[in-house]
Amino acid sequence: MKTRAAVLHQMQLARPYSHSAPLKIEEVSLDDPGYNEVLIKIGAAGLCHSDLSVIDGNRPRPLPIALGHEAAGEIVAIGEGVQKLGVGDHVVFAFLPSCGSCSFCQTGKAALCEPGAKANENGTLTGGHRRIHNNGNYYNHHLGVSGFAEYAVASTDSLVKIEKDIPFEISALFGCAVMTGVGTITNIAQLKLGESVLVVGLGGVGLAAILGAVAAGATQIIAADVNPKKREFAKQLGAHFTLDSSEKGALEELKELTNGGVDVSAEFAGVIPALDFAFQATKRGGTTVTAALPHPNAKLEISPATLVGQEKSLKGSYLGGCVPSRDIPAYVELYKTGRLAVDKLISHRIKLEEINNGFERLAKGDALRQIILF
Ligand SMILES: [Zn+2]
Ligand SMILES: [Zn+2]
Repeated sequence: MKTRAAVLHQMQLARPYSHSAPLKIEEVSLDDPGYNEVLIKIGAAGLCHSDLSVIDGNRPRPLPIALGHEAAGEIVAIGEGVQKLGVGDHVVFAFLPSCGSCSFCQTGKAALCEPGAKANENGTLTGGHRRIHNNGNYYNHHLGVSGFAEYAVASTDSLVKIEKDIPFEISALFGCAVMTGVGTITNIAQLKLGESVLVVGLGGVGLAAILGAVAAGATQIIAADVNPKKREFAKQLGAHFTLDSSEKGALEELKELTNGGVDVSAEFAGVIPALDFAFQATKRGGTTVTAALPHPNAKLEISPATLVGQEKSLKGSYLGGCVPSRDIPAYVELYKTGRLAVDKLISHRIKLEEINNGFERLAKGDALRQIILF
C-alpha cells in the first residue's frame, strides 16, 4: 500500500530546519506485514530529542531513514503467526523491541534485548526486513517504529496493547518520554519514598522524570535547566526548587539546600557539564543516573577516589530499564488514576507537514512534547 512518511536523506543540514527542511514528506510504498508483523494506522507521534540527534548528526543512523520512534495507533492488518494482537487493537510502540527469548529478556532486562538492539542498529524490524520503499529503494526503519507516517509496518516485538479509551496523543508518550523518564527514576535509580532527587535537563523525558519522582514519593525535587521557561514548567509539575546548573554557585546552592547533596541525580540534558553537575550534586552513597545520549565521542572525567571514598554509583539508563509489556500498563494505570499527569507534557499539536517547523522549535528549546496528529 501507499502511505506518506517523513524521510531523512541527509544529516547535519543547516538550521533553521523550517528552511532547510531535513525531513521530506514522501509518498512511499509499504510492504504487507510479514511473519510476526502488523500494519498500524498511526494515530499520533511525538517529536523527541533523539530524533533531533539523528537530524543534527549527534546520533548517526543508517540513511535514508523513515524517522519517528514515539507513536501509537490502531492495528489494521496482521501478518502470519501473529497471535497476541488482532485487527482493531490499539497499540503503543516501544522504541526498543523485546524479542522475549534472549538471555536479557528472560531475566527481566528487556531494555538490553540483543536482537532488538541489533535490528535497531541495522534499521530493520526484528525479522531482519525493511518494509518501506520508494522507487525500488528500501528505507531504514527508525528504532522499529518509523512513526512519522500515516501507516507503519512493525514487529509485534515493538508493540504493547493499550486500552481504547486512552487518546493516541497520550498513549504515544508512554513509548519513549514516559518509559525513559519514569523508568530512570524508579527502575534504574530505584528512588525510595522520602528521598531527594535532582533532574537535570527538562525536555519531555526530564519532565516525565519529575512526574515519576512525584509519583514515587520523593520529598525534595530539584529541577535544573538553562531555560527559565522549562524551570517554571517543572515547578508546575511538582518540582520544589529550580536552578540553572550552568550558573556559577549553582552547585553550592544545591548542596546547601539539600544538606550536602541529593540521594538521586538524573541527567537528561545530553551535554557533559550537565552530567558532571549531576554527579557532583549526588550526596555520599547516592546514585547518579544518565539517560542522555551525547555524541559518541564525548567523554566524562570522574575521580575514582570520589566514586570509592564517597561510595557513589553512576549508572546508565536505556528505555528507563523498562520491560515495556510490564511497565507501560502500570504507567497508564497511574495516569488514569491521576498520579502521572502525562497530558501536561504536550505543548503543541501539529500536522505531519509542519514537522520541520516542529524540529526547529525543539532545537530552539521552545517546546515540550509536540505531537503530530493524523
Ligand atoms: Zn525518544
Ligand atoms: Zn530479547
